[in-house]
Amino acid sequence: MLYSENDKRKHESYRIPLFGSEEESTSIPKYVLKKEPMEPRIAYQLVKDQLMDEGNARQNLATFCQTYMEKEAEILMSETLAKNAIDKSEYPQTAELENRCVNILADLWNAPKDMSYLGTSTVGSSEACMLGGLAMKFRWRNNAEKRGLDIQAKRPNLIISSGYQVCWEKFCVYWDVDMRVVPMDKEHLSIDVDKVFDFVDDYTIGIVGILGITYTGKFDDIALLDEKVEIYNETNEHQLVIHIDGASGAMFTPFVNPELPWDFRLKNVVSINTSGHKYGLVYPGVGWILWKDKEYLPKELIFEVSYLGGSMPTMAINFSRSASQIIGQYYNFLRYGFEGYREIHEKTKKTALYLTKTVEKSGYFEIINDGANLPIVCYKMKDDLDVEWTLYDLADQLLMKGWQVPAYPLPADLSDTIIQRFVCRADLGHNVAEEFAADFRDALHNLEHARVLYHDKGRNDSYGFTH
Ligand SMILES: *Cc1c(COP(=O)(O)O)cnc(C)c1O
Repeated sequence: MLYSENDKRKHESYRIPLFGSEEESTSIPKYVLKKEPMEPRIAYQLVKDQLMDEGNARQNLATFCQTYMEKEAEILMSETLAKNAIDKSEYPQTAELENRCVNILADLWNAPKDMSYLGTSTVGSSEACMLGGLAMKFRWRNNAEKRGLDIQAKRPNLIISSGYQVCWEKFCVYWDVDMRVVPMDKEHLSIDVDKVFDFVDDYTIGIVGILGITYTGKFDDIALLDEKVEIYNETNEHQLVIHIDGASGAMFTPFVNPELPWDFRLKNVVSINTSGHKYGLVYPGVGWILWKDKEYLPKELIFEVSYLGGSMPTMAINFSRSASQIIGQYYNFLRYGFEGYREIHEKTKKTALYLTKTVEKSGYFEIINDGANLPIVCYKMKDDLDVEWTLYDLADQLLMKGWQVPAYPLPADLSDTIIQRFVCRADLGHNVAEEFAADFRDALHNLEHARVLYHDKGRNDSYGFTH
């Protein structure tokens, strides 16, 4: 077909090459709203390019958060972005899928059959911990009033080890609870159960056990904690409860180490939270919290919403949000089943153990966590090492190959110990891990032969470990 010289189609915007467009050749306003619209394809490219230098998420070994989902899950999730998770009457089937996920988790965490568990999805473990903390606070207050305790005399307190994730500090600040921190020592690097009871009094709303300390991947000894709590409860009117922060471990341990008692099998464990976007294998953000029995979730915290002409209990700090992550979680449960999760997590554990060997063989490091319980490799420099470089230099060397591996000090009381950590995730296959191991060895070689070093040996700042 021939067009006349004056044919307008020649000037149609679709004929303008993306990188020949006006928007691509001028400075766009960044902090005020642009006056005119632009073509979607150009807007898409501009936004995507702005995000380009953030690195390759799959090489980010700092994060626990999922960086891979199957194509079918991605399609399903993008097709369901418009569904509002809170609107149970408009989306009753979505509510049903959420309900199934809660039941699946209750089964996985061994909720006793003779109790009536309750649970909900959340945006992540942080919201779930807020809800878990609130339930403990309200329940403590109700019981304390019944016992005739002067609840105004002192602030209620929560007990946790210094390996806590920042969400617990937020909980305590937002809801005016005294956070009593049990210091970790070099020997335990997790909660010191013997010291816990030095902090307990009638104003203690509960104790948090951490299944997977964010800094190191180590587990609190929850069975021992439960035993000690039981002894306390037998001799005191005030009854202690345990909440488990299983952000990472609660979706890993049931598949890889099902014999380990940490969950509702333990008498005094009354609530558990987890992050669906960590070892639940869903993109951020989805989390879960379950209570063993309705007794542990005071009624004041439950709101009834209309649902299929009836009503349904909800408890959430957030309101409207997309249901696509919940749907993604259900997809994973359906797609992988128990065996699928087990195979994936076993593979990830093997990768972690392999990388631990690589670190160990170099001769420079002392292993703090070898990946046997959670697939987290964590190490520090050997004490008597005579080298010029630090873990921060090693982090920079690895970053040159695109690997994000944080170095940071341990929390309070141990903050003179600098550690480095890789979080192994499902999408770190053995072959990629081999490449990483090669880059790790090269980095050490380069450091040994380097002349210019940037970091003071005394440096102890931290980057990017909290998630
Ligand atoms: C990651 C983490 C959290 C916070 O989880 P989000 O899902 O990111 O809100 C809380 N506690 C622990 C132990 C964690 O590892």
